[in-house]
Amino acid sequence: MTVSHSWYITYLLTKDIYIKEVRVFNLFTYLFNRFSKLRTIFYYQNLKLFKRKTIFSFVYQFVDFLFTIVVVIAAIQSALSGEILVGNLMTYINTTSKLDNAVQNLTTSLFSIYQDSLYSKNIIDFFKFTSFRKKTDRRKIKCRKTIKEIDTIEFKKVSFKYPGTETYALKNVEFKVKKGETIALVGKNGSGKTTLIKLLAKLYEDYTGQILINGIDLKDIDDSSYSSAFSVVFQDFNDYQYTVKENVGFGSLKDMNNDEDIYEALKKADMDKVVDTFPNKINQQLGTWFEGSIDLSGGQWQKIALARGLMKKVKLYILDEPTAALDPQSEYIFFKRFIKSTKGSTSFYVTHRFTNVKFANMILVLNNGQIVQRGTHNSLIKQEGLYRRMFDYQTMTYKGE
Ligand code: ADP
Repeated sequence: MTVSHSWYITYLLTKDIYIKEVRVFNLFTYLFNRFSKLRTIFYYQNLKLFKRKTIFSFVYQFVDFLFTIVVVIAAIQSALSGEILVGNLMTYINTTSKLDNAVQNLTTSLFSIYQDSLYSKNIIDFFKFTSFRKKTDRRKIKCRKTIKEIDTIEFKKVSFKYPGTETYALKNVEFKVKKGETIALVGKNGSGKTTLIKLLAKLYEDYTGQILINGIDLKDIDDSSYSSAFSVVFQDFNDYQYTVKENVGFGSLKDMNNDEDIYEALKKADMDKVVDTFPNKINQQLGTWFEGSIDLSGGQWQKIALARGLMKKVKLYILDEPTAALDPQSEYIFFKRFIKSTKGSTSFYVTHRFTNVKFANMILVLNNGQIVQRGTHNSLIKQEGLYRRMFDYQTMTYKGE
């Protein structure tokens, strides 16, 4: 535990992605002191182990020495008194020395077993860990159905608690989506929007109720055929220290070398013009880690992640706060292009900005894990309720009231 915590702090203090906050929030001294404390604990634990080992070795060697002396003296005495021959004496001495070596090897091995056993708890805990997926994986995999495209989606009384928690992250969620519809998920932080998306992406399966895809229970659908049928951009997307082409191409590996497709995806994410300014265009190395790299702004990285998501040609797109890092103009351009380019596909997106919800056919308003309102923007704005309160609050904030 101590070692892994100190490793984590090393990571925080040395990885470029964390260092920004470490500097801005002045965390260096605090983290470094924690690191020193942990290393001190680790040092004393090690020292204790070393002391134990030294005492044990000393006692063992002392006993061993006494034993050898006794055997050799007894053998010499027997040789002097003529009870045994000189050859026998040598055999006794050699045997004692071999026995001594064997016992020494045995004790060294026992000690290293003891030392390793101190770390084995971690691995035992790891093997003991039964993933929530395991239960469903035990189902007969051969019976799993494959799908090519996602046409309809239905949530039937879906409730879900994260493993190890007691509160529902989603409760009795019900909705039905037809092919080609655009669904916006809105609600306060912690209301269950991302959880809904995670269940739809089949990241968790221990929910109650049913999720039906094309009328088939999602739990019965083969994992890889399902994941080939949708694309998702999570809010904590990755920024790969690779070229633009690789960053985008990871969305659809089979098309990675199709430059036209890469450009097309970049265009949908409104990133094509920026990439054109790079010395190596789509072969430009991105990031900060390697020589010749160009680093991007947060918004540009997000556009690259969106291009990656849109590179995959599927019938379901899931976007979790896809434009959080974009300026309002880029956001507007993105949504217009997104809706146009994904026409005919179903899409889900989580958003906090009410300017984006007008693109949706249906808005689901979540609160405490439940859908509390649903409808279009025009219908919801006319109703008293959470949606209007959130909308009013945002417009008031924009007006500076
Ligand atoms: P939203 O996307 O609307 O902000 P989330 O779906 O992320 O909300 O979270 C819904 C609830 O589930 C919250 O109470 C949150 O604390 C909890 N939650 C989210 N992720 C986890 C997790 N990995 N483990 C335990 N609880 C979680």
